[in-house]
Amino acid sequence: MLDNIRIVLVNTSHTGNIGSVARAMKTMGLSKLTLVDPVQEPDSHASALAAGATDILASATIVDTLQEAIADCGLVIATSARNRTLDWPLLGPRDCATKVLDEAGKHQVALVFGRENSGLTNEELQLSQFHLHIPTNPDYSSLNLAMAVQTVSYELRMQWLASKQRATGDLPEYPRAEDLERFYQHLETTLGDTGFIVPQHPGQVMTKLRRLFNRARPEENEINILRGMLASIDKSTGNT
Ligand code: SAH
Repeated sequence: MLDNIRIVLVNTSHTGNIGSVARAMKTMGLSKLTLVDPVQEPDSHASALAAGATDILASATIVDTLQEAIADCGLVIATSARNRTLDWPLLGPRDCATKVLDEAGKHQVALVFGRENSGLTNEELQLSQFHLHIPTNPDYSSLNLAMAVQTVSYELRMQWLASKQRATGDLPEYPRAEDLERFYQHLETTLGDTGFIVPQHPGQVMTKLRRLFNRARPEENEINILRGMLASIDKSTGNT
């Protein structure tokens, strides 16, 4: 799915930024980089800043126009350091990640980033369905290009990991309500036997303990340990 997501850099001036973008992408599992008319093609400075991500530079596609870069994409999102751009539908990084992952299984998706000094032109912004703004300080809103790519890619990765976890149903075994209830009954009995709870004046202790354990959401094996602990107390107090 991440393979259908491409990062497009328009008319980048500094090759170092291209290298840093490659590194930002690779750390988040993205690999498709398209360079639109870079002022200079990736050089040794780019490789130095790419660190171990030179494979992304080596496989980058270089094209002359943004139209070419996005021609086969079903969804194009253009980023901007300004938060109101032409009154286009505007996304934040998190909503953007949801939308991109919803669609990347179906078609190619492009995330477009602008020039270091002047961003994207209005014509370029109008080639997209959505604009993406990272909600930065309004008095100083412009991130370094690679840091903007890092932030957007990070959100993509977080959502991708969450969807993978949902898909595999990778959840711990939680106790059933009746087992949890048996634990609370056992706890109350044992604490009554030790004298910690005075049966005639129980107060709010059990409610507070229930809240504590429910908040912690013990797993089935943890409940078994707790029941074992109670059983050992029962044994030593002679209340088995
Ligand atoms: N002075 C330019 C800023 C360019 S920063 C301007 O006003 O548009 C270079 C690129 O980094 C931008 O084109 C955009 O792709 C990205 N970027 C920087 N800050 C961003 C932010 N807050 N939200 C989204 N993208 C941002």
